[in-house]
This record gives sequence, C-alpha cells and structure tokens, in this order.
Amino acid sequence: MFADLHLHTRYSDGTYTSGDLVAAASGHGLALISLTDHDTLEGCAEVEAEAAKAGIRFISGTEVTAELFGRELHILGYLVDSASEPLARELERAQGIRQNRVRQMVARLQSQGIPLEAEAVFEMAKCNAPGRPHVARALVQAGHCGSLDEAFERFLKKDRPGWVPKEKMPAAKAIELIHGAHGLAVLAHPGLNHDDSLIAKLKDFGLDGLECFHPKHGGGATAKYQAIARDLGLLVTGGSDCHGRSKNRPTMGSVKLPMSFVDTLLDYQRNRPSSPAPTGGPHGSHPRPAS
Ligand code: AMP
Ligand code: FE
Ligand code: FE
Ligand code: ZN
Repeated sequence: MFADLHLHTRYSDGTYTSGDLVAAASGHGLALISLTDHDTLEGCAEVEAEAAKAGIRFISGTEVTAELFGRELHILGYLVDSASEPLARELERAQGIRQNRVRQMVARLQSQGIPLEAEAVFEMAKCNAPGRPHVARALVQAGHCGSLDEAFERFLKKDRPGWVPKEKMPAAKAIELIHGAHGLAVLAHPGLNHDDSLIAKLKDFGLDGLECFHPKHGGGATAKYQAIARDLGLLVTGGSDCHGRSKNRPTMGSVKLPMSFVDTLLDYQRNRPSSPAPTGGPHGSHPRPAS
C-alpha cells in the first residue's frame, strides 16, 4: 500500500485535471493521495470527490511559497481546514502576487519586443495561482519559443530578461498559518534548498515534517533526510511532485510513500495537543481528543 503526498493539477502549474490526476493515481495503484497545488486549496474538493469514486483515500494539502534568509522554500500544509480565514486570506494574497508577477513578466517581455499579452497567459492558465510555467507555455504556444526549456533559458530564469522576483511570505508565518488551520507543516524537497541548516531553524518555528522522498533526492539524499528527520523529531513524508506533462514525463509513480509513514502522520495529527476545535469545512477536519 503506497501513497503520494505531493501532486499538482491545473489549479496551479500542473497539466492534469482532477480527473486525470486520479486516473493516473489509479493506474499506479496508489491507496492515498494528497493534492498540493501552489498557494491554493481550490482543487481539493474536486480531487477528493474523484478519489472517493476511485476508492482512493485523500488528504487535503497546499504548497505554500515561503522564504527564509532570502531563500525560497516550499512549505507543504497537510490536513488544513479550508475554512480557516487567515490561511484563506493569505493564499488569496499569494495568488494576487502571482497574477501581478505574470503582468510584470509580460511587460518585461514586451519591452524585449515579444508581443505577449497577460490576458493570453491568464486565458491559457485558467487558474488563480499562475506562475512562470504558464508564461513559458504561452511563449511556446505563440511560437516565440520552441520549448518550455528554451522559454526558461532565454527569458524566465533568474536574471533573464523576463524574470521578476517573487514576493514570498516568511517561513515562520507560513507554518503559523498552517497550524492556525489545524494542519501539519512539512518542508518540501529539502534537497533543492542546498542548505540543510535551514531545517533546524524551521523546526524552531514549529515545522512538523520533512519531505524525505522526492524524485530529486537521489544519491543517498532520502536516507540523509530521514536521519535528519529522526534526529530533529520530524515526521517523514514523500511524493512525486508530479506536474503532469508540464516538463518531461509525468513523475507520478516514481516515488511511492509506504503507508506506514502516512499512518504515523495521521496518528500524530490526531494525538497532538489540540488548539481550538476546527471550524468544520469539507477537508482536513479530524476529530481530536478534548484537552
Ligand atoms: P514560479 O513559482 O512561478 O517561480 O515557477 C516555478 C516553477 O517553474 C516550478 O514548478 C519549476 O518546476 C518550473 N521550472 C523551473 N525551471 C524550469 C524549466 N527550465 N523548464 C520548465 N519548468 C521549469
Ligand atoms: Fe510547480
Ligand atoms: Fe516545490
Ligand atoms: Zn510541488
């Protein structure tokens, strides 16, 4: 029995619809999935419904764009209550920042002689949390670039002509918002941050877990992060970070998290000292012992 706790759909920069995602999860024989679109919880209700039809268990999630010491970090929020006002408000703010960034990137591209319109990007993306991959797809679709890689290399990578820095929320705030929504905060793909000292700092802020299993964690990285998680008393999670057919082949199935890790996470969530009772809402509200 395996799970995948890191998946994207068209609600952010993945290419799968909710139906596509669940069909792929069925194909890989997954018993449980979580949807972790960037800075949104929008797809959770839909994927939960599709998963239920397919007999797949579901837990709610989002991947919050955050920063620590000027470094971009992604904090996964699991089992969050979508009715939590502070979290919903900040996710909406993050979506506004993403939309403005697309407008700024398009303006820079226009000043480079590329006649791309922000509306064309939004029309193609059809999501509230657009990002560079959508601008890249629009550039390819309009024939300005031959591939997504070319779009990133020529225009969208850091310090290229179309690049615009992204405003990110402090990591401590992301963790606080997730906890305020009764969720668990997990550092995504620590191997991509190239600074393991950040993990202990995040633990001081209340981080609950570490994504040890990830497609980019080769060459002993998974074992290294499992050891760090054990030393710091962090939960162990993992997922394929599948974005559908956005770049190469879909990565779903390349990382399968043994269910025992999910059981540990759910037990931890159920048994930890509780903050005020969840306000309800369709996702992630789990009964807690009164304390
Ligand atoms: P953003 O959050 O808007 O800065 O965009 C980050 C996304 O762009 C991540 O999902 C990356 O996987 C994706 N990305 C980064 N570099 C490339 C690339 N060379 N080709 C395609 N996608 C990329
Ligand atoms: Fe992404
Ligand atoms: Fe990420
Ligand atoms: Zn991701």
